[in-house]
Amino acid sequence: MLLSGKTALVTGAARGIGRAIAWQFANEGAAVTLVDVLVEEGSKTAEWIREQGGEAYFVEMDVTDEEAVQRTFAGLQGLDILVNNAGITPFASVEDTNLEAWNRTLAINLTSVFLCSKNALPLLKRSTAPAIVNMSSVNSFRMNPSLPAYAASKGAVVSLTQQMAMEYATHGIRVNCISPGVTRRGELHEEDKADSRTSILRDCFPLGRVGRVEDVAKAALYLASDWASFVTGIDLVVDGGTTLQNVSALLRPELRARWKQGAYRLESK
Ligand code: NAD
Repeated sequence: MLLSGKTALVTGAARGIGRAIAWQFANEGAAVTLVDVLVEEGSKTAEWIREQGGEAYFVEMDVTDEEAVQRTFAGLQGLDILVNNAGITPFASVEDTNLEAWNRTLAINLTSVFLCSKNALPLLKRSTAPAIVNMSSVNSFRMNPSLPAYAASKGAVVSLTQQMAMEYATHGIRVNCISPGVTRRGELHEEDKADSRTSILRDCFPLGRVGRVEDVAKAALYLASDWASFVTGIDLVVDGGTTLQNVSALLRPELRARWKQGAYRLESK
């Protein structure tokens, strides 16, 4: 098991990608602390992991509340891995984004990475194989309409990752981030449903399917484990190749026809 004997804390672990990461880490032998503002969902997730033989504890924590963050990390015996995953994605143009919404997005998506890392670092310095994994997004370098605060926060997560990787390399602390593309937030191992939205999405994924939470969880496992022992400061893009393709591949009918015939992509089952 890749994380045997390790302790990990995952923020935003009640559901979605954070839940998958918590499960993946516990499945690989880590004792995992799940933190979230969703108490009922978070407790159920921890219970579900324990039912499968994993070691998991839920702690209610708002990642923007400095006192709560300090209290949570002070309560830990030790820590080897921190995953800064909690995030929100509010859609609004620049003109329609008020200052409160802007500040809240940056507080949850960016400042929390600083706050949790700051409080984790004294513990990580005592670990023999410490690692931080931050959650950015392909929106840090490929823009969507109406996501100004999100894009800015995720871009800054990449910069903060690189800064911390540089600054704490002498302590052996590896700091990396992941940029997921569109990721289905269903149950683990849920089969893709052939609804119209996913069929449009599938056309945009060179690897032939929409991303799943376990795709991101496996990337987090790699970065958190000794398999990535010489890897620090990277942004690992987990998007099925979406951001590689030129939009003309989708716009030109002849290319699109060949694409549809499977000439350019793996068959999706
Ligand atoms: P999600 O909404 O399912 O999960 C986010 C979790 O963060 C929730 O459990 C939520 O309660 C928690 N959270 C929100 N505010 C919090 C706070 N103040 N304190 C503590 N916890 C808080 O979303 P997800 O899709 O699983 O996203 C997880 C991360 O991955 C986010 O950082 C998101 O930006 C990033 N991401 C997701 C996708 C995607 O397509 N799903 C793509 C790129 C990046």
